[in-house]
Amino acid sequence: MRQLTMSAKHVAVISHVNPDGDAIGSELGLHHLLPALGFEGHQTLLLPNRVPRNLLFLPDTDLIINPCDQPDACSDALAAADLIFCVDLNNHSRVETLQPALTAAQCPKVLIDHHHDPQEDAFDIVFSYPDISSTCELTLWIAEALNPNSMNYNAALCLYTGMCTDTGSFAYSNEQPSLYEAVARTMKFDIHPAWIHNQLFCSESIAHTRFLGFCLNERMRIFEDYGFSYIFVSDADLKRFGIEPPELDGIVNYTLSMEGIDVGAMIKETFGKVRISFRAKGDFDVNRFAQRHFNGGGHTKASGGTSSLPFDVTVQRVEELLKKELKPSNNQQLIR
Ligand code: 5GP
Ligand code: MN
Repeated sequence: MRQLTMSAKHVAVISHVNPDGDAIGSELGLHHLLPALGFEGHQTLLLPNRVPRNLLFLPDTDLIINPCDQPDACSDALAAADLIFCVDLNNHSRVETLQPALTAAQCPKVLIDHHHDPQEDAFDIVFSYPDISSTCELTLWIAEALNPNSMNYNAALCLYTGMCTDTGSFAYSNEQPSLYEAVARTMKFDIHPAWIHNQLFCSESIAHTRFLGFCLNERMRIFEDYGFSYIFVSDADLKRFGIEPPELDGIVNYTLSMEGIDVGAMIKETFGKVRISFRAKGDFDVNRFAQRHFNGGGHTKASGGTSSLPFDVTVQRVEELLKKELKPSNNQQLIR
């Protein structure tokens, strides 16, 4: 990889659709590390859609292009690249509308990722570690192995952000010391976790907070005896509250906030498309569940998928499948 990076003239870095902190953090983190890894050429940063508002504070988000605003520039950059880094995705299909251009690109493709079941034959070099906390942590260790002095303030800020968001602010089951060692590496560069936390989690609009209340009151069903709950929101709900699809990120986590509820889902209709996010805090493997039933995947405790069925039918299907796979401890009781 060192040779490839040093000899490349035009690198493209791309991550997954509906990018989160780990996707954008690893893309921008790598971008800020590449010069110290011996890359002196031109970089194009791509994402399948726009950067969400709460991640715009990351340095150089303005350099990222997307096919909604610049479709030709995206496919041209992928065709012109002599090296492509795919970060935080396990499959070409995860770049959605950019998939044909990514697959058609003839240059070497490097995968840096921590999702399960990578499409290994679609990449030339594969760094796939499903047990690591985040792609940002993995990127940090790869960069450090290539050049122990490669870290800098901008990269540290981006990589810290992804490690923070993908671990639920260091709350999910991360029992590996390496995460905290990686965090310590970034902290040497004057990173301020409280400031980052405010940018990430305390910068929502008033409409968003009202909408969250609506979701919890009117759009959440809790099946206490099965140990799951789900939230469902339609295009009409989003329109009523003036909410953009990226603002839905994070709301699914409220499905797990209750004692005894170990599996959660959020069914989202956006622009007529139906997507589902799954979360778990017990043993239930939501990666397999999303793979089996919703053409998706991700991690054992956080996954997503899609449905081609209408929104209402999908809501019923999610409910029925979860009831089938999660045994009731007693008589099923619908609280809301
Ligand atoms: P989210 O629910 O936040 O969209 O996604 C949770 C996790 O599952 C993320 O790591 C995301 O990359 C992954 N994920 C979401 N949707 C899909 C999908 O359709 N396919 C695959 N392979 N992974 C997904
Ligand atoms: Mn990730």
